Amino acid sequence: MKVLAILYQGREHAKEEPRLLGTVENELGLRQWLESQGHEFVVTHDKEGDNSEFDKQLPDTDILITTPFHPGYLTAERIAKAKKLKLCVTAGVGSDHIDLPSANKAKLTVAEVTGSNVVSVAEHVVMDILVLLRNFIPAHEQVVRGDWDVAEAAKRAYDLEGKVIGTVGAGRIGYRVLQRLKPFDCKELLYYDYQPLPEAAAKEVGARRVEKLEDMLSQCDVVTINCPLHEKTLGLFNKELLSHMKKGAILVNTARGAIVDRDALVDAVNSGQVSAYAGDVWYPQPAPRDHPWRTMPYNGMTPHYSGTTLDAQARYAAGTKDILERFFKGEPQIPENLIVQNGEFASKAYVQPTKALS
Ligand code: NAD
Repeated sequence: MKVLAILYQGREHAKEEPRLLGTVENELGLRQWLESQGHEFVVTHDKEGDNSEFDKQLPDTDILITTPFHPGYLTAERIAKAKKLKLCVTAGVGSDHIDLPSANKAKLTVAEVTGSNVVSVAEHVVMDILVLLRNFIPAHEQVVRGDWDVAEAAKRAYDLEGKVIGTVGAGRIGYRVLQRLKPFDCKELLYYDYQPLPEAAAKEVGARRVEKLEDMLSQCDVVTINCPLHEKTLGLFNKELLSHMKKGAILVNTARGAIVDRDALVDAVNSGQVSAYAGDVWYPQPAPRDHPWRTMPYNGMTPHYSGTTLDAQARYAAGTKDILERFFKGEPQIPENLIVQNGEFASKAYVQPTKALS
């Protein structure tokens, strides 16, 4: 079979650090294993435009491996050209870069390595919340500049204790964020999700479910987005929804860039409606050099790397191999890893009930 992988470039870093498995150079550690079984393995980072290596290789590809960190956008047009494609594996979590309704129509299987980097992301979310709430970045930049102005640093610095925090989505990442926030003695931990947490899990972290998103946003000092990108969350945080946030609240988004309207957010930050924004996800990726979130005031943006720590890479490389091995042997996939199969959504996270909570 022909296996095509679209991965990010590691260059000298991949040589220095062989545990950067998710790179073009280190190939998820799969080459020897795949070739020893007689499979062809093509790896590239070149994914944009009709003349990209992605487009050239796709028509006779049987299995496509992509990663959310350098998304190979598998559009409806590309799916139509991929006549031999059977399986798409996301090395990581989040398969929104694949047109899932079209994947369903083409009866593709889309699987991801569920859970592989959820701790990595949850830790990053807590870091982002603290970095913004403590006004860490401007304070650090001040000392690098050679300045010393305690008042300037302190005038936007707060404690996490006593604040109201809300997560949009309380799945694997959202719940782990709540678990990690519990010891900070926040005033309240809230969540909005159409799938309620099991009672014992909600009790363990002391989280309260809010049925209407706008109601949750109006109560929160900090909002963290932890739901997938799908048709109901695309551009969800637009001007209207942002206006329901408590004035001066903080917003952290490590879910997907396109959940937040790019320009509406810039306006909200400039007007002080949102006091600061952080995250590692953008649309498109790589982010263009002139993407306004790079230079927006009070931003804690990074490239998309929260879920690709070296620990996470070991887990999603092993998980990718397991998905491939099951496929080659004709064995069933681990059910939690399946996003779409046999023309249907297998994951509830991408299927919002038509009668939503709000
Ligand atoms: P999950 O499936 O365990 O949880 C997602 C939760 O979101 C589910 O409980 C689902 O019901 C809920 N949800 C779906 N639509 C919603 C909506 N409109 N409003 C509120 N809740 C909604 O997934 P997870 O492992 O927690 O990952 C969540 C997302 O985080 C992924 O889909 C991916 O986009 C993103 N992610 C980012 C990184 C990164 O490196 N930045 C890494 C992993 C995952």
